[in-house]
Amino acid sequence: MSSMGIFGGTFDPVHYGHLRSAFEMLQALRFAEVRFMPCGTPPHRDPPVASAALRLQMVCDATAGEEGFVVDDRELQRTGPSYSVDTLSELRAEFADRPLALMIGMDAFLGLPKWHHWREILTLAHVVVAHRPGWRAPDLGPLGELLAERGTHRIDDLHATDAGRIFIHDVTQLEISSSEIRELVGAGRSPRFLLPDSVHNVIQQSGCYARCGEHSTSTGD
Ligand code: ATP
Repeated sequence: MSSMGIFGGTFDPVHYGHLRSAFEMLQALRFAEVRFMPCGTPPHRDPPVASAALRLQMVCDATAGEEGFVVDDRELQRTGPSYSVDTLSELRAEFADRPLALMIGMDAFLGLPKWHHWREILTLAHVVVAHRPGWRAPDLGPLGELLAERGTHRIDDLHATDAGRIFIHDVTQLEISSSEIRELVGAGRSPRFLLPDSVHNVIQQSGCYARCGEHSTSTGD
């Protein structure tokens, strides 16, 4: 059965770091699709700055017409915190025999033991980790043990079983982050070439990040 990558994030806003990683993994790991899944209320961090509707619109615009990219807004429809384990349980119920792969950056992977019912995640899906600049794979602690037990370098393993393996994938290192983009915009500078023009247009038209960053209070209207 064809494998599905699941790419969750705040996407506040979505940028080329997300899009390029997703695209490279879609191709290299032979996923049939990558599902972008904007989260509602992230349990581990500050609430998003842009509204759920705007974040969804930016993800839809950024991925429109791209074969293999799908947007799934189920986490935005739920109330309460967006736990990956709940989303994966839902997807597992829908796609009983299909390999699922949760795609996360190395920074997110290092925080995995703090996630709600984190050990259950690997019973529902594989975990595919994208290398991110400045972050190293753990060799100690619970994640080091998990990697020793579940880690694989074989792409075929992600297709042979439905869940349970961890694969670390080298993606082109693009040192772009949503928080830096928000600060840039808040400081009155342009985020062009860090994200698609369609996303830039939404940011300009909505003014959603105008108050972000150090200068936000001094430019008040
Ligand atoms: P923020 O700067 O607000 O923390 P972010 O840029 O990390 O945001 P998120 O929406 O939180 O964006 O990230 C969603 C997922 O994408 C996470 O798993 C994260 O590790 C990954 N990711 C984010 N930026 C990159 C990047 N430049 N390269 C590879 N993966 C990334």
